Amino acid sequence: MTFSVHGLAVSRGIAIGRAVLVASSRADVAHYFIDATKTAEEIQRLRVARDAVSEEITRVQRDLPKDAPHELSALLDVHLMLLQDEQLISGVKHWINDRLYNAEWALTTQYEIIARQFDDMEDEYLRERKADLEQVVERMLGFMKGVASPVLPTPSTGGRAPRQQDLLLDDTMDVPLVLVAHDISPADMLQFKQSLFVGFATDVGGRTSHTAIVARSLDIPAVVGARSASQLIEQDDWVIIDGDAGVLIVDPSPIILAEYGFKQRQGELERQRLNRLLNTPALTLDGQKVELLANIEMPDDTAGAVSVGAQGVGLFRSEFLFMGRSKLPDEQEQYLAYRKAVEGMKGLPVTIRTVDIGSDKPLDKLAGRTQDGQLNPALGLRAIRWSLADPPMFLTQLRAILRAAAHGPVHLLVPMLAHGSEIRHTLSLLDFARAELDNKGIAYGPVKLGAMIEIPAAALTLKLFLKYFDFLSIGTNDLIQYTLAIDRADEAVAHLYDPCHPAVLRLIADTIAECNAQGKGVSVCGEMAGDTSMTRLLLGMGLRSFSMHPSQILAVKQQVLRADTGKLQRWAQEVLASDEPAAML
Ligand code: PEP
Ligand code: MG
Repeated sequence: MTFSVHGLAVSRGIAIGRAVLVASSRADVAHYFIDATKTAEEIQRLRVARDAVSEEITRVQRDLPKDAPHELSALLDVHLMLLQDEQLISGVKHWINDRLYNAEWALTTQYEIIARQFDDMEDEYLRERKADLEQVVERMLGFMKGVASPVLPTPSTGGRAPRQQDLLLDDTMDVPLVLVAHDISPADMLQFKQSLFVGFATDVGGRTSHTAIVARSLDIPAVVGARSASQLIEQDDWVIIDGDAGVLIVDPSPIILAEYGFKQRQGELERQRLNRLLNTPALTLDGQKVELLANIEMPDDTAGAVSVGAQGVGLFRSEFLFMGRSKLPDEQEQYLAYRKAVEGMKGLPVTIRTVDIGSDKPLDKLAGRTQDGQLNPALGLRAIRWSLADPPMFLTQLRAILRAAAHGPVHLLVPMLAHGSEIRHTLSLLDFARAELDNKGIAYGPVKLGAMIEIPAAALTLKLFLKYFDFLSIGTNDLIQYTLAIDRADEAVAHLYDPCHPAVLRLIADTIAECNAQGKGVSVCGEMAGDTSMTRLLLGMGLRSFSMHPSQILAVKQQVLRADTGKLQRWAQEVLASDEPAAML
């Protein structure tokens, strides 16, 4: 039966595919298709893992001290029994043989199916056995992680639009897949960059949560904040993800499929039309030059930025080098990553933002610096506060950035500053990092210095900031969050997360005007910069530098080409004076 689930539209386009339900904790499990000739080997890999875990449990059981409670041994019996469970084994074989999933993916897929059955059980004792099954599966996954897969991943089908015949070929591996999860961390989302999924949907998250931002950077349709989607949708269901409307349509009828197939083709045509603007300079009708920059998460993203004609990187979120790993990157690793980004931009400037860890971008638990238990992480030890609290870590990053600046133009951007003391502390550490490099005779280059304006306190003390910095970059995602006291990652208050609130617009307009008056550079690097419905207003406020995901650059350029800044300037003043600015856009 067809039904729909509503959420928040975060990444445009239509995806049609079968649902793959992924538990948040297992998003980092490898997902790839194996070669059809290798299914026996893949099943053997699982068998080996199962036998090894069985042996381990048997050994532990044998070595239990005599006075160990009887329940302990009984529990291990349950684990041994679960390892032999027919439903688990036959299900896993099905995913490997019929769908060509790799062993880990097959195992977690089948686990999700059985776990749901446990959830539905009346009997509390039986319900609790889910935790045992989970432990057994975790052990097998752990074992397999340490064992190199004999089967190399085959190229994925990721990114391509599903063909109509895919929808008819029910049981082949060439079926497009959409990922459905309760939640996915930004770091795990990033792992899906090269993956086979053509769309994403999660239960939680707001439009500018970092998971949504990464989904947008993948440039495939995504919906977040879809509440109970991962409960309502079942493994293997056909799902349409409408990333423009923020809707999921489950088990669509042929008529609905045909309609969305049409929309999908329209979207594709629109993209092709936009591609024609690639070599057109970003000039307004009245001849104003507008700079269109790219936001990136990883050095390799520069290729995508260059391919759409980005004039530089306006925001390299360096924290993605730090997340999803057990050990923080050292100076050399960071230097090589920043240098790669600099070289990738072929002489165009790269704005590297110092690490913005915290809030919805936590470090891996194994990195030993978790911030569990912080009462309010968005207001806690995040971004520059976290960096200043750990000077050796921060100096390592500063040295790496300075060294990368020897290879091309680098701008150094500092996130979440609010206090004069933080500014001065940051600058003194930067001097210290330079002195350290001088003492060791290590080459480094000049950097332009910028501050993010993402806390209202910063937007209200611009003179202080402009005394120290060469340019400012407005982080509208956080500026909205902190101005309106709305958690940007919380779907429950997503309807109040309003980029057009008069207070937000006032802070943005004043920041742009003050920078322009003082001849300092100013750009917007929050999601607002890539939102085509805001381009005219930002131009009218005097903004001439926009930084966004590469996938948005041509669409924003189209708006720029149609704009007359003289007219927009007068109109923007009216919008700013209005009680209902959104109604005027
Ligand atoms: C912002 O806050 O607008 C911004 C660009 O930074 P981030 O989204 O990484 O917090
Ligand atoms: Mg921010």
